[in-house]
Amino acid sequence: MKKSYPMAMVNTPGKIDFEEQILKEPSADQVLIKTRAVSICGSDLHTFKGEHPFAHLPAALGHELSGEVVAVGGAVRRLKVGDRVALEPIIPCGQCVFCQKGTYNLCVNLSFHHRQGQGAFTPFFVVDEKWLHKLPKSVSFEESALLEPLAVAVHAVQKAPITLGSTVAIFGAGAVGLMVLVLSRLAGAGETFAMDVQEFRLMAAREMGASFALANQGKKTVEDILHMADGLGVDVAFEVAGKQMTVVQSLQVLRKGGHAILVGLNPEPEITVPSNIFVQKEISLSGSQGYCWDFQTALTLVEGGSIDLSRFISHRISFDSLQEGFDLLTRPGGRANKVVVLFE
Ligand SMILES: [Zn+2]
Ligand SMILES: [Zn+2]
Repeated sequence: MKKSYPMAMVNTPGKIDFEEQILKEPSADQVLIKTRAVSICGSDLHTFKGEHPFAHLPAALGHELSGEVVAVGGAVRRLKVGDRVALEPIIPCGQCVFCQKGTYNLCVNLSFHHRQGQGAFTPFFVVDEKWLHKLPKSVSFEESALLEPLAVAVHAVQKAPITLGSTVAIFGAGAVGLMVLVLSRLAGAGETFAMDVQEFRLMAAREMGASFALANQGKKTVEDILHMADGLGVDVAFEVAGKQMTVVQSLQVLRKGGHAILVGLNPEPEITVPSNIFVQKEISLSGSQGYCWDFQTALTLVEGGSIDLSRFISHRISFDSLQEGFDLLTRPGGRANKVVVLFE
């Protein structure tokens, strides 16, 4: 008899369903993983609510996974049964010009496991060996489930022109925003401003070293930041909230010649920006898409102790309580940062 296992799906907004999957042997280049920890991503919440701009229901969800190798295909050389690994959850085509140049995050046919029906909230996961990163002993499974958001933050901060003493503003102090804060400081930032509408997130930002953590009050907050940043504004702003207001603010707080980076995906396909300030202040705006060779950097920083991922975890739950984990994150005033689902 074939062995089966459950995988979480969203068929109707706000409800987690489990669908039975048949356990398959890995093909030549593949590895079968026994899942140990998966963290819930902001994008999973969009899917859960049926509001994801690209994922239409029914949809599989989950991609921030770590686990243990339990079987390998015949052509697998680097990994062996028993190895502890983290998943880089991306499926580039390998053929397009961007893939050939190594910039695989820009692949013109970019896909993801959950978009192809394999979500990560499941006890088993099959993937090509090349998208697995072997974990050092010192890094736990639950921390490793946060390597994916850390890689997103690493990619964004590497794109920013931060030099020693740069002033940096971060709009959105969820997990990725807080990681951007910590990494900006590692990269040499001087004064840092973190903005959010939730007080518990601002507290976390203060604990993680933000010079100023401000409740976002729109126009007044822009004025306050400009005032505190020598009346000139900040060198670099990150938008990690995915909102019209914060995109505009991230431009308005820049000093002349400053640079804003969009990290948050906006559920609205189009927003309005004040275009004249690009000319008047010679500012620039660019985007940061996912990660590309950033897992290696993320892992190096974690292993070396530069960033402690356990600080971002607010809740640990079992696979059986997945619905409660999503409810916790979508409930107003839920006070949850990263929720990690632990598997036996
Ligand atoms: Zn994610
Ligand atoms: Zn490609």
